[in-house]
Amino acid sequence: MVIDGKAIAEQIKENVRERVLSHYIIGENAPKLACILVGEDKASKVYVKSKIKACDECGFGSLVINLDENATKEELINVINFLNKDSSISGILVQLPLPNSLERYRNEIINAISPDKDVDCLTDENLGKLYSGKGLIAPCTATGIIKIIESVNYNLEGKDVVVVGRSLLVGKPVSTLLQNNNATVTTCHSYTKNLQEKIDKAELLIVAVGKPKMIKSVKKGSFVIDVGINRIEDKLVGDVDFDKVSTEAKFITPVPGGVGPLTVACLLENTLKLHENNLQKIENNYENNEKITSLKEY
Ligand code: NDP
Repeated sequence: MVIDGKAIAEQIKENVRERVLSHYIIGENAPKLACILVGEDKASKVYVKSKIKACDECGFGSLVINLDENATKEELINVINFLNKDSSISGILVQLPLPNSLERYRNEIINAISPDKDVDCLTDENLGKLYSGKGLIAPCTATGIIKIIESVNYNLEGKDVVVVGRSLLVGKPVSTLLQNNNATVTTCHSYTKNLQEKIDKAELLIVAVGKPKMIKSVKKGSFVIDVGINRIEDKLVGDVDFDKVSTEAKFITPVPGGVGPLTVACLLENTLKLHENNLQKIENNYENNEKITSLKEY
């Protein structure tokens, strides 16, 4: 069965849209996402465009800040600080990857985002909460992968899962979410020995590497989720050789049309959750201030 990521994503977006329309006034107090794009990377521009389109569809406000390829770390952090203070902004994302000159400062740049507005859940504070099981949100792609698994009512309990890739963006958070769902997870990377042997035993295989068609064979009857997006002569292919592996797997996600649309849908869901959480904090602060004022009067 080829899983239709687009259809699952549409359902999530529809739920988000309904929640927004029933609780907020569009253009006034609805959630608003700010995307920071540095440089002219073609693929990044396409991703940001699709995120803004999804915001429009769901009644969110949005804002794109396009910085020059040669922007400095300080300039970028100044923009982030400005957005942190802007109470009309519910969520901030910095489109990755950054240009080479900034990539080495990635951690510092990401951690400049207020954890309350970190929609991608990439700040150290939010990742720490995720790993201790206390997070409000999780990184969008990892959340999307769990939604794909849930879409076919696949029970993760006790399953032998192999995740290929251990990035902060995908591999590590998805391994954590799977463990939180009681799966037994083996996380592989470029130093892993006998990778194919591990793949051959995986009931569920998740591949997030960035190498076109590197997986040629899997366990018969397994579930295969291909996160990779690789551009070959203007065509998108995954990390899994779809034609070969789809004859062995029971469930498989395609590229494009698999994990990608879920990433965008989960970004909207995360933005809405942060928006609701931020409003709740403002309300609590207001109530506390009222209490303090009345105590002073007393
Ligand atoms: P990174 O480059 O940050 O991480 C790649 C990971 O793959 C690393 O952990 C690396 O190991 C591992 N790796 C590299 N070569 C091998 C190998 N031969 N065998 C086993 N492991 C290997 O990439 P990302 O996690 O950011 O992205 C991975 C892919 O997913 C990319 O194609 C990206 O475009 C795509 N992506 C798709 C999204 C979507 O919405 N569908 C969202 C985000 C990413 P090591 O740590 O040892 O270097």
